Amino acid sequence: MRIVLVGPPGAGKGTQATRLAEKLRIPHISTGDLFRANISQQTELGKLAKSYMDAGNLVPDEVTIAMAKDRMEQPDAENGFLLDGFPRNVSQAEALDEVLETEDVKLDAVLDLEAPEEEVVKRIAGRRVCRKDSSHVFHVTNSSPKKEGVCDVCGGELYQRDDDSEETVRKRLEVYHTQTEPIIDYYKTQGLVVTINAMGPVDEVTGRALEALKRESAEK
Ligand code: AMP
Repeated sequence: MRIVLVGPPGAGKGTQATRLAEKLRIPHISTGDLFRANISQQTELGKLAKSYMDAGNLVPDEVTIAMAKDRMEQPDAENGFLLDGFPRNVSQAEALDEVLETEDVKLDAVLDLEAPEEEVVKRIAGRRVCRKDSSHVFHVTNSSPKKEGVCDVCGGELYQRDDDSEETVRKRLEVYHTQTEPIIDYYKTQGLVVTINAMGPVDEVTGRALEALKRESAEK
């Protein structure tokens, strides 16, 4: 399956993407995680990306598209992938269409995670991520780790992402509305959008997502 996950920052894309990719046995490709890996390895790409990310802006298309394309061309993504955080604007969606056309394959669905604005701001403000593995995500009140500042899964240090400050979150939400939301209409014209409510317990949301994807592929 080839799936794109969309939704505002804080809707739970990363959490759901990790679980869905495991269930569907496809690689989880997160452009945010790829940028963060470049930042921790202090690559040139990481240095460039950090300045945009810290301000809550999108990293320029040219480097983002090249990075995403390179990842999608790895052998493990040959039979499918789950894209999380890419595409994030219409130009990136068009670039993705070109990649798919070259490979003579199509997207199966665009899963849109819906969550109210006040809720996503609260979720992000309390979010703590593991330094060793960014798929280990906690929340200071909703799903707090057993020991403050320490990852329950692997013992890694928990930290607040630089771009999770309230000011940057507001900027990221604005960027989401102006630049990313238009891709939902873009994909609606292709009949690919499946919207689910992203509120509630993590397992329930995963269940809803799997059901919606099953329905969508049965209709095809
Ligand atoms: P995320 O982890 O998906 O919330 O992404 C964190 C940040 O990485 C975003 O706020 C952007 O600055 C940058 N980023 C991630 N994916 C993209 C993308 N597809 N295009 C441009 N910037 C991106």
